[in-house]
Amino acid sequence: MKYRDYYEVLGVPKSASEKDIKSAYRKLARKWHPDQNPSDAKNAEEKFKEITEAYEVLGDSEKRKKYDALGADWQRVSQQADAQRQYRTQRGHENGFDGFEPDGTSGFSDFFDAFFSGVGRRQTSATHVARRGGDLETPLDLTLAEAYEGGTKSISLQIEGACSRCGGNGVLNNAICPACHGTGREIVTKRFDVTIPKGVREGQRIRLAGQGSKGAGGGPNGDLYLVARVKDDDRFERDGDDLHIDVPTSMYDLILGGEVRVPTMTGEVTMTIKPGTQNNQRLRLTGKGMPKVKGGGHGDEYVRLVGTLPANLSERELKLFKELAKLRQDSAAKPT
Ligand SMILES: [Zn+2]
Repeated sequence: MKYRDYYEVLGVPKSASEKDIKSAYRKLARKWHPDQNPSDAKNAEEKFKEITEAYEVLGDSEKRKKYDALGADWQRVSQQADAQRQYRTQRGHENGFDGFEPDGTSGFSDFFDAFFSGVGRRQTSATHVARRGGDLETPLDLTLAEAYEGGTKSISLQIEGACSRCGGNGVLNNAICPACHGTGREIVTKRFDVTIPKGVREGQRIRLAGQGSKGAGGGPNGDLYLVARVKDDDRFERDGDDLHIDVPTSMYDLILGGEVRVPTMTGEVTMTIKPGTQNNQRLRLTGKGMPKVKGGGHGDEYVRLVGTLPANLSERELKLFKELAKLRQDSAAKPT
């Protein structure tokens, strides 16, 4: 994370008044607005974002107070805060935990998200304007079997919530909150009953309505999104709704025909191998793939027959193989 010098960005001194800051911001925003810089839009957009971020903090009295409290020494804040911990313990408990805050998706820098995304206007506007809470996103690790079966799963998730000490502001008594080191957040563990859609895909988002950040001023809560992460399976390779598997098959079964046991997501099945099957041939088990998320059956399972050769051949086996090899040579040499 990089420290952001917001005063420098706006070109104002630390002592600048609210009015100075506002007018500096307006001037710079006009100058760097992407619409005003069509020939250099990308750079202008970057600049514009920087300026907006700086104003978001310095133009808000709560955020500015916190920013000044952080100071350029922000990286050492955590150590300093530790020393203050004991002193502030009592006061901190006056602020109750109030749900999941903030979501950290401001689109600004990491620095902003770490220290300011939950501070300021949110609090001041809370008493006047209803505001929907932000959405949260967290990964949900699943095995292939869990993705296949779907259904309800009770899971414990570690979710970033508002710091219970400072109520999410990151500031206590004009100093950085010692519990969260100014981030305004703490990790809380919460249990959820999640309905996993059958055949859920990697990266698919599962919505838990109203489980996101708490709304302000009577506004509704945001939503919590679980992003499915399906772990690699030892046996199956997944390709959309289809599954692929390699099944070791004896050379004799490939040549002479036979049967092979093939794992599927719902248990083993027996497949018939025709005589004269080539090594690595693929067979299809229709409908043995993953359930289609949008309904309408399953994908297919593709089985690759990977030939295995006999080892530790006996004298007699070797002799017979030599005979076989000779037969093949002779028949190849013979004109047809
Ligand atoms: Zn805190």
